[in-house]
Amino acid sequence: MHCDNCKKGRKLRPRKGLYHYTESGLPNIYLKNVEWYQCPHCEARRVLIPRMNQLHRCIAWRLVTKPSLLSGTEIVFLRKMLHLNQRQFAKHLGIGPVVLCRWEKEERIHRRTTDQLIRFVYLTSQDDEYTHEVHKEIWENLHKLFAKIERQVSTPRVEIDLKKCSAAYEVKRTFATAA
Ligand SMILES: [Zn+2]
Repeated sequence: MHCDNCKKGRKLRPRKGLYHYTESGLPNIYLKNVEWYQCPHCEARRVLIPRMNQLHRCIAWRLVTKPSLLSGTEIVFLRKMLHLNQRQFAKHLGIGPVVLCRWEKEERIHRRTTDQLIRFVYLTSQDDEYTHEVHKEIWENLHKLFAKIERQVSTPRVEIDLKKCSAAYEVKRTFATAA
């Protein structure tokens, strides 16, 4: 394997260790047990990542479960995981594309509520082994239900039969009418 950057096409050297995965677009992702080749002259790298999609789903999961606010580049990563452009993602979030564009460029410009919304949208839109763990179907149905919420406040009578009152029954009943 030879370097594409160098004119003379220098031979790449195999490397092992901790790989700074800058290709992710995130500044803080390091991979263990990855092999890569590096040019001794210009430092150009060629990495071999088996099961790349799996890795990206794992990174996304780490992001939506992180205890601090998402950064701009992290929002970009999540949006790309959903294969959405800025306009589409902004629509999901109920904001203008210009606002989203600003969030993606700057660090922590958004608030906690919108941060949670971004995670919620990711979890309800993404379809993988991680999101299945958080009961994908229920999230999806809730998302549809929320989309139909009326603009005015109303408080109709709520009747609950204590003999039938269980989570399984309630969830089934809720989504039977929402679908
Ligand atoms: Zn080179």
